[in-house]
Order: sequence, then structure tokens, then C-alpha cells
Amino acid sequence: MKVLALESSCDETAVAIIEDGRLLSSQISSQIDIHKRFGGVVPEIAARKHLEIIDRMVSRSLEEADLDIKEIDVFASTMGPGLVGSLLIGLSFAKGMAIAMNKPFVGVNHLFGHVYANFLRYPLLKPPFMVLLVSGGHTEILVLKDWDRIELVGKTRDDAAGEAFDKIARLLGLGYPGGPAIQEAAEKGQAKYHFPRPLREKGNFDFSFSGLKTSVLYFMKKNPLASVSDVAASAQEAIVDSLVTKAFDAAESLHLDEIAFAGGVASNSLLREWARVQSEVSGIKAYFPPVDLCTDNAAMIALVAHEKAKRGLFSPLSTNAVPYLTLDFF
Ligand code: ATP
Ligand code: MG
Ligand code: FE
Repeated sequence: MKVLALESSCDETAVAIIEDGRLLSSQISSQIDIHKRFGGVVPEIAARKHLEIIDRMVSRSLEEADLDIKEIDVFASTMGPGLVGSLLIGLSFAKGMAIAMNKPFVGVNHLFGHVYANFLRYPLLKPPFMVLLVSGGHTEILVLKDWDRIELVGKTRDDAAGEAFDKIARLLGLGYPGGPAIQEAAEKGQAKYHFPRPLREKGNFDFSFSGLKTSVLYFMKKNPLASVSDVAASAQEAIVDSLVTKAFDAAESLHLDEIAFAGGVASNSLLREWARVQSEVSGIKAYFPPVDLCTDNAAMIALVAHEKAKRGLFSPLSTNAVPYLTLDFF
């Protein structure tokens, strides 16, 4: 079965084609350079840019896979969560192709996509396992109970980890997106300052990152001459420490011996390094998707669509974009 999937939930226009779990093409076009000067994604511009290039991205993907559109068996798209105007572009285009080619359509939950990115690297990995989903909009400890079922263990009470990276980078003048900018600055500095790691008590699997942003702001006001690299390194360490400590605590307390990391923040090199060390200490295995498939891409969406199509879980053509789609929808 050949699945062509579109992803346009935020500021990446992506198309991928898989055949029975094998990736034949993955094309990603990022709008980062356009949104950079605004310090974040501008929804109206994002939607318009998706519309401008989506047809070319599909052609390019078919070319890469060396396929004709007639050979595609299933058309899929992210249906949420995300920016409604952006989501509608991919969703409408995928439904349009399904109608034109008389093939089924599958709407995909972007969050399942991030989790499934792990299967692109570890095809033998099987649920149940623990997941730390850390992206621009989500920070959650989950259990993938079965292919189609996620259970929530803990989540952020305020900002997502990626959002914390983005906001702290902005107040340090490091630009957008904040995660890669902070990681790069941190490599030149030392984590010599201690920033808070809230909700530390054992058995608490929730996160809070808004206080960290505030304490970095006050620290910079009090210490205007502090090195930005040192502050970036210290803030990064505070975020990574909270994430790794809680994820491994949760896995231990639920007797799960595997943690799969997912979402854009999972590409962070310090997070990967600390998880590797903690994995050796605890005996709990840590899995990470390939770095370029942690942030938004269509390969992960195609994989979920394939899993749904195998079970006959096709979506009606009346399927709409759901900006706040939650984890209970497969
Ligand atoms: P969601 O998936 O929750 O809807 P999103 O799609 O915007 O949100 P992703 O594309 O998964 O999120 O990830 C983007 C986030 O990942 C941004 O906040 C970005 O700063 C962060 N990020 C990307 N690379 C890194 C990195 N190397 N270190 C830390 N954070 C990173
Ligand atoms: Mg993005
Ligand atoms: Fe995402």
C-alpha cells in the first residue's frame, strides 16, 4: 500500500510517500526565514505560503519516489492540532487528490505523528512504551498503550518546553526558532547559573516552565553583563534536567523499560546526551527519532495514515480541521 501524506499544521509544508512502512520520499519546506523577522509564526502568512507551494511539493515528492499519482492508494493529511488556516491547506489538498483519483482519504492526529516518528528509525519498536512528547505546543509524559491508544501520565501546567526555548531565546536576543538558537549559544557557554526546576517532588509528573522564563528575565535585569551563552546553557540545562528526571521517574514508577522521545525538542543534543546517560544508569532504553524527523514532517503523518488504513480507518470527506485535537483521537 502506497500512502501520500501532507503536513501543514504550522510553518512547515511537507509531503511524504511511504510504501508499507518504507519511506520513499520526504520533502520539507520550512517557512522559518519568512517568520523570523516577526519573532514567531504569523498564521495568515503561514497559510498563504502553504497554498503557494503545496502543489509543487507534491510533484517533487512523486518525482523523488519515482511514482505517478495514479499509483498512490491512500491520500492523507494532518487534521489537527495546529493553526486552522494552515491545517486547511493540506487537508483540502489531500481530500481534493482523493476525490480526483477516486481513492480513500485519512485524516491524521499530528501528535500521534510525532510519536510514530520513532518507528521510522526503530521498526521493531512495539507498544506499550513510555513517550516524552516535547514540541512547540506540547509537553507531555504519555504511554503508547497500543498502536491506536495513548494514555496521559503528566503534562505541563503552563508553557510547553519548545515554547520555553522560544521565549527565552527571544528575551536573550537569540532569534527564532529558539531551540536550535539556544543549543548553539549554549555550546559556547557554561551552565554556571542555577535556574528553578519546579514540581520536583517524586511522583509528580507535571511540568512548569513559565517560572523559568521569568527568572531568566529577572536574572538578565540584575546581571546585564552576564554572558548570554552561559545563561543559555544554564536555562537549557534546567529544561533538560526537568524533562529527563521526570520521564525516567515516570517510566520507573509505571514499570516501563522503554522511553521514546518525540517532538521538536527531542532533537536537542543535551537532552539526547542526558537521556543516554540516564538510560545507562537506569537500564531503561531511550529512543530518539532521526534529528530531522523530530520537528514537523510528513513522513510521520504517512506512517500513522498507513496504520489507520491497514485497519480500514478511513476518514469521511467531510473531515474538518480540528485546531485543538486531543490525544484521544487516533
Ligand atoms: P506541536 O507539535 O505541539 O503542535 P510544533 O509542531 O510547532 O508544535 P515541533 O515542530 O514539533 O512543534 O517543534 C518545534 C519546537 O521545537 C520549537 O519550539 C523549537 O524551538 C523546538 N526545537 C527545535 N529544535 C530544537 C533543539 N535543537 N533544541 C530545543 N528545542 C528545539
Ligand atoms: Mg515549525
Ligand atoms: Fe509538531
